[in-house]
Amino acid sequence: MNILKTVNRVPGGMMVVPLFLGMVLNTFFPNLLRIGGFTQALTGVGYPTVLGMYLFTVGTKMTFRAAPRMLLRGGAILMAKVGTATLFALAVAHYFDGSVLGLSTLAVMVAMSDTNGGMFLALTSVMGDKEDSGTYVVQSIETGPFLTMLIFVGAGLAGSECAWQLARRGHRVRLHEMRPTVTTSAHQTDRCAELVCSNSFRSDNPRNAVGLIKREMEALDSLVIRCARQAAVPAGDALAMDRHVFAGLVTEAIAAQPEIELVREEVTAIPAEGFAVIATGPLTSPALDRAIGGLLGTEDLYFYDSMAPILEASSLDLSKMYALSRYGKGEGADYWNCPLSREEYERFLDALLAGETVPIKDFEKGVYFEGCLPIEVMAQRGRETLRHGPMKPMGLTDPRTGRRPWAVVQLRQDDLAKEHYNIVGFQTKLKIPEQQRIFRMIPGLENAAFARYGMLHRNTYIHAPAHLDRFFRMRREPRLYFAGQITGVEGYVESAATGLAVGLAIAQVLEGREPVPIPYTTAIGSLARHCSERPPSEKFEPMNVTFGLIEDTSHSPVRDKQVRRQKMVDRALSAIAEWKEQISAAPAAVLS
Ligand SMILES: Cc1cc2nc3c(=O)[nH]c(=O)nc-3n(C[C@H](O)[C@H](O)[C@H](O)COP(=O)(O)OP(=O)(O)OC[C@H]3O[C@@H](n4cnc5c(N)ncnc54)[C@H](O)[C@@H]3O)c2cc1C
Repeated sequence: MNILKTVNRVPGGMMVVPLFLGMVLNTFFPNLLRIGGFTQALTGVGYPTVLGMYLFTVGTKMTFRAAPRMLLRGGAILMAKVGTATLFALAVAHYFDGSVLGLSTLAVMVAMSDTNGGMFLALTSVMGDKEDSGTYVVQSIETGPFLTMLIFVGAGLAGSECAWQLARRGHRVRLHEMRPTVTTSAHQTDRCAELVCSNSFRSDNPRNAVGLIKREMEALDSLVIRCARQAAVPAGDALAMDRHVFAGLVTEAIAAQPEIELVREEVTAIPAEGFAVIATGPLTSPALDRAIGGLLGTEDLYFYDSMAPILEASSLDLSKMYALSRYGKGEGADYWNCPLSREEYERFLDALLAGETVPIKDFEKGVYFEGCLPIEVMAQRGRETLRHGPMKPMGLTDPRTGRRPWAVVQLRQDDLAKEHYNIVGFQTKLKIPEQQRIFRMIPGLENAAFARYGMLHRNTYIHAPAHLDRFFRMRREPRLYFAGQITGVEGYVESAATGLAVGLAIAQVLEGREPVPIPYTTAIGSLARHCSERPPSEKFEPMNVTFGLIEDTSHSPVRDKQVRRQKMVDRALSAIAEWKEQISAAPAAVLS
């Protein structure tokens, strides 16, 4: 055929010419072939499908009789290629201390042993015979995913979700977790996705931004939300879990994934090769914290966060409390409430204001996260502040007296066995003896036994917008991603959501395409915007997800807040469904 002859006049023309034509088409008519269905699966996003067909057609050149000869020839080529590359890489490691012209040993090895299958087949079709072409099948063995390409640091909420999302798409992941060998000031177990403080994922109402983000994550098959629902305990309109059951379920799911290798060791340097995700959270170990500072060339950022105490149920005097959710939400009686009279409140406040706290180190400033202030810091802002905050009595009229108490302290179930309760919103940096003395002044807690004391901790995060793009990927070094609280999002759910977004972004890159951005009209997308779009010189502070962060594209002014929010929710959920559809144009075998 004339066309074929013309193409073959160009050296390697069978590869170069179609490649060039595809590039021209994509440059000038980028949407020409994106018309959905089968066509789209084969063009633009579907190169692995084409690769599969390509190998199939190569297979059709072979016969069982010819196969042994092809295997022999292919094996010889493979041994020569990988063997030479290995010797060269060993020489680089030995004589050049592991790096030559900025290329590491592994980079040299990979570059030298890489197979350009298209070029090989194009050349052998002109200069070789059918059996030469068939040897490509054997050669392509070394391009298969036999090396761990993805390194994750931190098996917390973000790291676990991210690794799992990739593994279930068939990508191999090595997940480094330093616990139990090295632990943090807040974690108590060796489980993945341990909840270090409250056992709540906050509101489950989709008209609340944190409720919406859960729906979006569920639509994208989130592991963390699935396990949370399985471990749920009653908590009004919140999604709260038995923390041990929850972390156990996540750990089991990670262990059951053959693609994930969980390595129990601390990582002290930024991984030098391949894709890596840093998801070490607010309590990143000091050595890695320094390495991240070095990588970003900045002073590390931090704020102080505190945790609320957990009490043993058997030590509570329930006769002084009443069971009720605020405004009767959820099952109606999901919380135990300790009512305080005005005098009891004033006495408690005086003790709190005079209470001795754990000092912050001399060289650091006491910067707190506004959404999670210690109660003694809130109390310093005014004698009424707690009555409008965690001790708010609104919606909690005592059914026994029909009267609304002056103030209320709420206790939330912390485990399925109902053995532990946490004091809602009572994060504190009081010293331990002071916690015992002051919290036992609350009616019903006179003999409270503490399963865990409240505590203060340092919380590390980076100035994400200065370094990351909307895929949580370092602009300067795109093989490195950050996920979780370290990116400057705040909260368990938000951390897991960024892990999910990073996992799906990397999956798309590994599947051979530039990731499709998550729309800013979604709650997950709004976190990506928060972490990437802000001038580097501007102050950057950690944020929970809110409707204020989500892009509102409706230009018609709707005055009713509820109606406006419902529209934003509907828009967000359909945008996520559409996005899922777009990113699902991946190889079918991988998505199963
Ligand atoms: C004490 C405390 C209390 C909090 N309370 C709440 C709360 O009540 N509600 C809420 O919504 N959010 C809370 N947060 C904020 C945040 O939601 C959680 O920290 C959340 O767990 C963050 O998820 P993550 O995946 O980013 O980090 P994490 O869940 O902390 O996971 C990071 C993992 O990385 C590991 N790691 C750290 N350094 C290394 C290293 N060098 N090598 C290997 N592994 C390493 C850690 O052991 C950990 O398992 C709290 C944070 C802290 C620190």
